[in-house]
Amino acid sequence: MVPTSEYDVVIVGAGPAGLMLATWLSALKIRTKVVDKRSVKVLAGQADGVQCRTLEVAHSFGFVDRLIKEGAHINEICNWTPSIEGGLERTKRMPDNEPGTSRFPHVVLTQGRIERFLLDAMKDFNNLTVDRSIAPTGMTVDATLESDFSASAYPVSLTLRHLTEEESTPTQVGTVASGLHRSNVLSDDEADAMNGSVARGAYAHAGEEETVRAKFVVGCDGARSWVRKQLGLSLEGESANSLWGVLDAVVVTDFPDIRLKSSIQSKDAGSILVVPREKDLVRFYVQMGSTDPNERFDRSSISPESIVATAQRIFAPFKLECRHIDWWTIYEVGQRLCKTVTLDNRVFLAGDAFHTHSPKAGQGMNTSMMDSYNLGWKIAHVVQGKAAPSILDTYGLERHKVARELIDYDWKLSRMFAGKPITSDGKPVSHEEFKKFYESIGKWASGTAVHYLPNALVAPEREPSLAPGLPHGQRFESHAVVALADARPWHLADRFLADGRWRLVLFAGDVREPQQRDQLEQVAAYLDSPQGPLRTFTPASDDLDSVIEVITVISNPRISVEPNAFPDVLWPPKKPYGSRCYDKLYADDSSPVTPNERGEIYRHLGIDPKTGCVALVRPDQTVSLVCALDEIQQVGAFLSQFMVTQL
Ligand code: FAD
Repeated sequence: MVPTSEYDVVIVGAGPAGLMLATWLSALKIRTKVVDKRSVKVLAGQADGVQCRTLEVAHSFGFVDRLIKEGAHINEICNWTPSIEGGLERTKRMPDNEPGTSRFPHVVLTQGRIERFLLDAMKDFNNLTVDRSIAPTGMTVDATLESDFSASAYPVSLTLRHLTEEESTPTQVGTVASGLHRSNVLSDDEADAMNGSVARGAYAHAGEEETVRAKFVVGCDGARSWVRKQLGLSLEGESANSLWGVLDAVVVTDFPDIRLKSSIQSKDAGSILVVPREKDLVRFYVQMGSTDPNERFDRSSISPESIVATAQRIFAPFKLECRHIDWWTIYEVGQRLCKTVTLDNRVFLAGDAFHTHSPKAGQGMNTSMMDSYNLGWKIAHVVQGKAAPSILDTYGLERHKVARELIDYDWKLSRMFAGKPITSDGKPVSHEEFKKFYESIGKWASGTAVHYLPNALVAPEREPSLAPGLPHGQRFESHAVVALADARPWHLADRFLADGRWRLVLFAGDVREPQQRDQLEQVAAYLDSPQGPLRTFTPASDDLDSVIEVITVISNPRISVEPNAFPDVLWPPKKPYGSRCYDKLYADDSSPVTPNERGEIYRHLGIDPKTGCVALVRPDQTVSLVCALDEIQQVGAFLSQFMVTQL
């Protein structure tokens, strides 16, 4: 008899999208199974750009330090174009991101390391690991249970087959040696590199099948997604496919910007994107041609030597010598999108499984991780009985928009970057247009400008806005504040850890003013009342801040008020000892140790320092609603549309 087991969520595919989802669900203690057909994770190459927004999220999961330490930092971009004398000249220098875009830099590091950090985090949170060398062979959804979200209903059944070593060993066309090539990996990847899952005895069950039943299945299984095919869906899109030669190498060159992200547009030899990497590596993206989707490109004509030769022609008159090639690939992609991302909110797609585009934009891994970051807490809320299943509708609404924008951006970027770039009406792209385009995309490319339209989890914008720097539907923009209790400086978003909680940020204004103090007390009384959102949506047995955490930021100086002056609910006692939550009270002030570094959060966010406002922030750091302090009941009314009243 085929063994059967039950999970809240089964994730198919352990690339960036699957591992981000697994990390989220592990942090939230959701019963999860992750399967991947490969015996070993990515070890070198593939995606490499990690945007500021992804670092912000990595911070909330606790592994941003590893990324910052190991990655190369991208601070400046340079454009090079043909000079009148026939060589190349630097025509533009610009910051990679506008100053103030994020508290974190743009980092470049191989996908293999990002996967390592996620694997470590999911293990640390709830001992979750990936079951490798396993692929699904069948999936059914029981229509009679589809709308049954009770604890005992597991409507999706998956048949999983344990693969042989041969079936689960990736053949990466371009890697220098093989899928196990590992010259660019660090010591904590060694076990994977040497043994894959062999050491864990994965092949002992090769050929056997098991059935798992789940409340939700998420297909994070890449561009050729098996899950997507089971849903009868396909990626649809642009007819032109682009073919990229991608190569990581240690080089010797007299090109002065080799440690900056640089684009070089040559007169006749095409264009190249140069990306500095960790461990003295440099990545080159060379577009090797475009093909019609029905036409098969002869990949055998591309080799590391041909990529290097093309790069050398583009770099001329600068010299370029590749002394060590760490990894290379031929990456053939079209700009394609799946028209839907779910089957009845029971089966979902995330990452490359629902959108593909060129690697040029450096967005593939980031967008894929952000898809499942958007989905993870919503699934957890439904599984934990905190919210109605209808919130799952917002996943497709929100992420489909982002995927469409990404494809549009990539389409423009790819044409700008083609050997002889042309505009959509067929005219050649001027160097000026090329520069302008680059300048215009900065914020979007950092991932910080993602904007979800009003939906069940994003209220329509209030007019006029009380905090123009906190648009509804965008990630909470962080600035430095100082803790009232211990004078420690913090970036406010450092407090928004990935623990599934909502944050209600009370910008309380100047509480030295009696009127403002009264206002804050009224807000606190409502929050502490049986009708308020804290008691309504938090199980009585749990800490009062376990579903919605209230954080207060005053605009007056830190030492002009004592913590004791604040109502209890704003810094409640903690179980089991009843000690106070001192970490919930902050001032828009400098710290005694950094007296000249006031974050000026009120000014940056455009909030009136006298009267303040309230911001409701989702567990994924997206702003849902901003209202006035005397409109605090809007928060309860908004949440009651989808949050489940607890007994
Ligand atoms: P993937 O990273 O594709 O992960 C999918 C996972 O699902 C894999 O682990 C796979 O083994 C597993 N899987 C697939 N099918 C099944 C199945 N049936 N059963 C079980 N498991 C399954 N992006 C860039 O920005 N720059 C680059 O240079 C670049 N180069 C790339 C080179 C290659 C060869 C590839 C494949 C991709 C490259 N990308 C690059 C794209 C980038 O890697 C992806 O955008 C990003 O990894 C998407 O993450 P994902 O988790 O959605 O999918």
